[in-house]
Amino acid sequence: AKAKGRNTYHFYSQELNAAANERLFIENELRTGIREGQFQVYYQPQVDCRKNQVVGYEALIRWFHPNEGMIPPTKFIPIAEATGLIVELGAWILQEACEFAARLASQDLKNNISINLSARQFKDANLVSTLDKIIKQTGVEPKRIHLELTESMLMGHVEAAILQLHQLKALGVSISIDDFGTGYSSLSYLKRFPVDILKVDRSFVKDIPEDSNDMEITAAIIAMAQKLKLNVVAEGVETKEQIEFLQNNNCFVVQGYYFSPPVSEAELPKLYEHLQSL
Ligand code: C2E
Ligand code: CA
Ligand code: CA
Ligand code: CA
Repeated sequence: AKAKGRNTYHFYSQELNAAANERLFIENELRTGIREGQFQVYYQPQVDCRKNQVVGYEALIRWFHPNEGMIPPTKFIPIAEATGLIVELGAWILQEACEFAARLASQDLKNNISINLSARQFKDANLVSTLDKIIKQTGVEPKRIHLELTESMLMGHVEAAILQLHQLKALGVSISIDDFGTGYSSLSYLKRFPVDILKVDRSFVKDIPEDSNDMEITAAIIAMAQKLKLNVVAEGVETKEQIEFLQNNNCFVVQGYYFSPPVSEAELPKLYEHLQSL
């Protein structure tokens, strides 16, 4: 038993070492990657499922590392967040996404662009002035910009969060609650926050129609959003059945692999063609 214990210890310490090394590697590579422009913003359409018409896009960052290939955001965003690099990277994402929105507007496409904010970025005292500058410089209509935040980002310092939200909203942008239903359930707080949109998390959508609890929860979130006069977007929609369920429950804007994964701007013509064919 003793020998086994020792092996187990070695096993875990090796795992920890590997994790720490990977973290260190990513941290170093992030700095280089930002400097050398290894990042690209991809866009996933949000579709009005009544007409298969794109109403907006969510901006999702992609990292194409010269040796490692594509490194997923779930792997590097937490490290960018912990090191503070997210502030610089996040400002670049805001800039890219607003330039994209301005290009769409110049083609008469009235699409919204949803941009994820990390906790660190949201708390940053310069966020409002950074965004204000980007909006003015790109000429994007502020109402086209939807900022996605999670419940947990709002719950820590409630008063500070409310103040920051009001300052962002004063720029004319909208606020969206991402992954709704997965955080601390904060229904009583929800009315205190000046938010505009709820995004129903994929975890509630993915097992529709097999899981009747998930169907009840999804229907309840949509109904509550309507009562609070919030718009609602369903995430992670992969099947026709899920779309039918959502539509029957008065949720008409959906996002997910059923319509398209996130794509580069160059792939948009192909995306429009695909949506036409559905
Ligand atoms: P999220 O904001 O909840 O983004 C949705 C994630 O679900 C994306 O993964 C998207 O590609 C994926 N997804 C969309 N539709 C489907 C579907 O039908 N099925 C499945 N299985 N997945 C679907 P992605 O791009 O890997 O991003 C993961 C997370 O990384 C995001 O979750 C977000 O928390 C973070 N992230 C991504 N881009 C950014 C960014 O620009 N800034 C910040 N702060 N975080 C980002
Ligand atoms: Ca999101
Ligand atoms: Ca989400
Ligand atoms: Ca998520």
